[in-house]
Amino acid sequence: MNVAAEVKRKETGDGAVRNHWNVEEAKALYDLPFADLMLQAQLAHRNNFDPNHLETASLLSIKTGGCPEDCGYCSQSAHYETGLKATRLMDCTDVVAAARRAKDAGATRFCMAAAWRTPKDRDLESVCDMVNAVKGLGMETCVTLGMLTPNQAVRLAEAGLDFYNHNVDTSPEFYSKIITTRSLQDRIDTLAHARDAGIKLCCGGIIGMGEHVEDRLGMLVLLANLPSHAESVPINLWNKIEGVPVEDTAEPPDSIAMVRLVATARIMMSRSVVRLSAGRHYMSDELQALCFLAGANSIFIGDVLLTTKNPKVDRDADLLARLGITSGLAGGKQCVAPTSGQGEKCK
Ligand code: SF4
Repeated sequence: MNVAAEVKRKETGDGAVRNHWNVEEAKALYDLPFADLMLQAQLAHRNNFDPNHLETASLLSIKTGGCPEDCGYCSQSAHYETGLKATRLMDCTDVVAAARRAKDAGATRFCMAAAWRTPKDRDLESVCDMVNAVKGLGMETCVTLGMLTPNQAVRLAEAGLDFYNHNVDTSPEFYSKIITTRSLQDRIDTLAHARDAGIKLCCGGIIGMGEHVEDRLGMLVLLANLPSHAESVPINLWNKIEGVPVEDTAEPPDSIAMVRLVATARIMMSRSVVRLSAGRHYMSDELQALCFLAGANSIFIGDVLLTTKNPKVDRDADLLARLGITSGLAGGKQCVAPTSGQGEKCK
């Protein structure tokens, strides 16, 4: 079967994306000769997106550190001595000012992250004000606040939230080596609550923590077998953080393995936006270009990603210009029309 037919075979007849993958099938794709894998990924990409356009998002930590969860890769967990200073929830006006700067720099989506196990109702109302005000700037909104109840998800939807980020992090088999305070099922339940409330999902994972290739593929299978694929799939390369357990097991994938994983994600979740997320500052221009060729079509812009580094905006703009990729950054087409009649100001 030729590669184009193979891509077609991976989609169901009614045009819906497929969500009954297994690791053997994912591995068969991942292990294809590189040129064949890249062609399949590019066909999947071109069938669903403009391959020369990249989404640009910006991420702000609105409440940093002191988190009761024990995610073994994270500088914000209260379980580990990482030297990070915990902060209170930011004021809405400061968040909106940061969103405005991000928009001016070329971001079309503004993501707000709080290091909580689950939000308190009073804090949730503050976040709803932020969502409403940031939407008033004409940006897409995303928040990540930990586990949600169904009612909290509905409240966020009422506030106009576009995306909820909640990652599966890794494969079911590797999960317990990384986190013990929150089960994988807890995460899947929160994703279902957000989806049921009508919120789009941002859900991906992290590689380079000491997992095997099969775990990376198991993570993709987990994501691709969700009842409906997340609209955004961030693939994070673990950022080196001193003082967390993953520091002892971490092993970054080689560049080719990174590109193969992105290409496999693109084929398995052909209609999802695949974001090259944390860890881009470790990557050469050439590696990023290969990941974009493999189907990655979103990045975070801005010098800081929560508590870790990100490439400078000028470097990103220069790279995208050299690749002929349009984005908010490069002065290319904007994805999001300004909205009217909504916040922009905090209550
Ligand atoms: S829940 Fe989020 S902030 Fe808290 S430790 Fe885990 S990754 Fe870090």
